[in-house]
Amino acid sequence: MQLCIFNGSGKRIPITINVRIGFNGNVYWTFFDASNRDKLYEELIQARETLEFQARELKEQASIDALTGLLNRREMKARSIPVFSLFARTKNALSILMIDIDFFKRINDRHGHAEGDRVLRKFGRLLTESGRKSDLIFRYGGEEFLILLPDTNLEQTMIFVKRLHGSVNKILIDGESLTVSIGVSFFDGKMSFDEVVDKADIALYEAKSLGRNRTEVFSLF
Ligand code: GH3
Ligand code: MG
Ligand code: MG
Repeated sequence: MQLCIFNGSGKRIPITINVRIGFNGNVYWTFFDASNRDKLYEELIQARETLEFQARELKEQASIDALTGLLNRREMKARSIPVFSLFARTKNALSILMIDIDFFKRINDRHGHAEGDRVLRKFGRLLTESGRKSDLIFRYGGEEFLILLPDTNLEQTMIFVKRLHGSVNKILIDGESLTVSIGVSFFDGKMSFDEVVDKADIALYEAKSLGRNRTEVFSLF
């Protein structure tokens, strides 16, 4: 038996008790002071808590893009596929936006990589502030971002991108407005995640070809 007893002044003393019944029928009790065992046990619990905390922190760090604080590409599929499954069932509108900063290389070339990083951070913050809590925002690659807007139809998506273009244009680099190009596709309840992303990517390419600083919707061109 492992027990705790309390002495007269209320001090907690962990003890181990061994009990044996002898051949003569007598019961033999042996009491051991188990303070060391208890201390070790406490230390083990502490160590486990620390490890669990560190594991949670590592998992968090592994899913977050260090520069922008957005979810990274590694997380994209794992987080998006459950949303796709849900929307395949509910048949609600789900729009997917692929966003690419225009002439970003030029910002790096003219103003330096650190300025490029600052713009990426600022743009990431803007994305977070622009949407709803349920939106999923990922840094897809260097200056490319992917957003899932749940319960958002074509009309609402167009309102969203119009507002976004407006706020992006307010970010100035040496007096010049930042611009982005956006490709949009909609989940039809059947397509795979990759197919929807491919379609958004094609729409993005169209937006670039048509002069940038604009949004194109797949299937509407
Ligand atoms: P476009 O309008 O066609 O999109 O042109 P672009 O210059 O934006 O596109 P391009 O793909 O030629 O250049 C993207 C640049 O983004 C190149 C790369 O050095 C830069 N880049 C990628 N990741 C980072 C980053 O984390 N920080 C900074 N500062 N630059 C990055
Ligand atoms: Mg790009
Ligand atoms: Mg670009």
